Amino acid sequence: MLKVLVINCGSSSLKYQLFNMKDQSVLAKGLVERIGLEVGMLKHMPYCKDKIEVSDNIPNHKVAVKMMLDALLDKNHGVLKDISEISAVGHRVVHGAEKFSGSVKITDEVMDVLKECVAIAPLHNPPNIVGIEAAREMLPDVPMVGVFDTAFHQTMPQYAYMYGLPYELYEKYAVRRYGFHGTSHCFVSAEAAKMLNRPIEELKMITLHLGNGSSITAIKNGKSIENSMGFTPLEGIIMGTRCGNIDPAIVPFIMEKEGISPDKMNEYLNKKCGVYGISGVSSDFRDLEEAAKNGNKRADLALKMFSYQAKKFIGSYAAIMNGLDAIVFTGGIGENSATMRQMICKDMEYLGIKIDEAKNQVRGKQADISFEEAKAKALVIPTNEELMIALDTMSLVKTA
Ligand code: AMP
Repeated sequence: MLKVLVINCGSSSLKYQLFNMKDQSVLAKGLVERIGLEVGMLKHMPYCKDKIEVSDNIPNHKVAVKMMLDALLDKNHGVLKDISEISAVGHRVVHGAEKFSGSVKITDEVMDVLKECVAIAPLHNPPNIVGIEAAREMLPDVPMVGVFDTAFHQTMPQYAYMYGLPYELYEKYAVRRYGFHGTSHCFVSAEAAKMLNRPIEELKMITLHLGNGSSITAIKNGKSIENSMGFTPLEGIIMGTRCGNIDPAIVPFIMEKEGISPDKMNEYLNKKCGVYGISGVSSDFRDLEEAAKNGNKRADLALKMFSYQAKKFIGSYAAIMNGLDAIVFTGGIGENSATMRQMICKDMEYLGIKIDEAKNQVRGKQADISFEEAKAKALVIPTNEELMIALDTMSLVKTA
């Protein structure tokens, strides 16, 4: 039985899922949190067995990988008898720059290129690299694959990915739009084509991955031609704690007024802004919806800004594709918030979008929420980035 382990490393966390690729079922999943802090925690959830939580000092990602493997092999809570049952490991990597337009088998040479990518993704790639190195050390004989958030968007035309900056900046520092959440956009667009029972090659789709980080993609004939995120995942619509699109002149203005360094400013724009900064309430849309219902005007403003900005992207992407067959909602907000879907889709009959409020009352499952006669279908499709990573991993390992 082919078993593929998927690992997603953040700076202080490691998420994992072990798949049985025969039927794509999840044998176990879990999370190691607070790596490098005083007390860390492993939460391990095996299928059909009791889950466990272990608190311990977890000084680094190598120890986190060891804890994950111990849990997978545990007599009572494990799902593996021997480590050799793991056929391959798939790693999520945020930024592949222009070097990777698809998933790759990890070799020493690939590791060198990944390290080069750190220059343009200093916040996101280092934890991914640390995770891969730890896994390679602990599982030296297991083939590993890197799956990139940016890869799906490498089909964007140059006039879409260039910024209005001197061309030398692109040549010298690779400054351009990359786009993110590619694995998710790719997965839900393929699912949408299946739901519509039409070949993806003839569809014009807009996929909205709305979560803590949010990005929107125009997918024409199965290829990404534009994504709302940019050089980094900071660009695009307003997010949980990220500002999204702002006038770039605001950045030096605030730095000067508040005496903030470039590093601090980057952190500020990533962590203190977005709907959190606007509302002063929370970055979580459940809290915002609750607060708005109870009359909190700034929470209401944050929700209105989010839906308005999403609407603007839908309109502009329909324009660049010269038409629209479907919009797809995914991510924590897209999959679960009927309120936000309703706000975004309101008054969009001109583009052929008309949702049925009764059908819109779904949460976390595939559904067509549009009226029968709507020219552009509105779909809810839960994303499954881990499965997509496992499938890519398996196909690369098989063909090796
Ligand atoms: P993600 O980053 O895709 O995991 O999405 C996480 C976000 O989804 C949370 O921060 C919430 O804002 C949002 N979310 C999850 N469930 C709901 C819900 N039932 N209603 C509104 N928002 C939700």
